[in-house]
Amino acid sequence: MRIRAVLEQRIPTEILTPQPRHHHGRWPEQLAGRRVGAVDVHGKHLFLRFEGGLTVHSHLRMTGSWAVYGPGQPWRRSRRRAWLVIREGDREVVQFDGPVLELLSDARSRRDPRLARLGPDVLGESFDERLFLRNLRAEDPRRPIGDSLLNQRILAGIGNLWKAEACFAAEVDPWRATGEVDDEQALRIVGFARERMSQSARDGFEARPRAVYRRAGEPCPRCATPIRQRGQWDDNRITFWCPGCQR
Ligand SMILES: [Zn+2]
Repeated sequence: MRIRAVLEQRIPTEILTPQPRHHHGRWPEQLAGRRVGAVDVHGKHLFLRFEGGLTVHSHLRMTGSWAVYGPGQPWRRSRRRAWLVIREGDREVVQFDGPVLELLSDARSRRDPRLARLGPDVLGESFDERLFLRNLRAEDPRRPIGDSLLNQRILAGIGNLWKAEACFAAEVDPWRATGEVDDEQALRIVGFARERMSQSARDGFEARPRAVYRRAGEPCPRCATPIRQRGQWDDNRITFWCPGCQR
């Protein structure tokens, strides 16, 4: 990732937090003169680990993004939408549109249950299949597989679109209980997500598959049965599936 190339082991020249909500945190003062140690990515979580025990944590959800700009390069989103600007020499690393951006002490980031035990990153260069399966088997076996895939402690980085599309590609019904999905099927779902998510990260939004996501009522591209949608489990996250060919 290019953020790593720009920031790792460097002391940023300038740090700005343009949103009023961050003014009281005095990040520029707190982070001034500190070297960035590691840049860690887990799915949509990004951690900039500054020396002296401070970590910037961001999670992009659906709206946020990171960008790296060289000298004189125009920004692709409005400056008003920037939440964090880190200058290093003549380059700028910018986080746009939040929605999660926080400064944590190392002690807090270790204690934070959301961050302590993230599953393997779906977009990681290597993928620990055994760890993923172990996490999956620790989940409530009654929870529908489509919803278990959104649990970041099992697997970090799959969102709602990819959950629906990967279950469709693997011909697995997202309503099937997690305990009734075998290892080979679970790995087939994740394998599709890994391959197509990296492709989409390279080639952009247009490379995303759209067989079932937000296509309720339209015919399934495989069997022509009308696609359905319904909210799942505790958070009622909408899933899309074909009742004709996903089992
Ligand atoms: Zn179908």
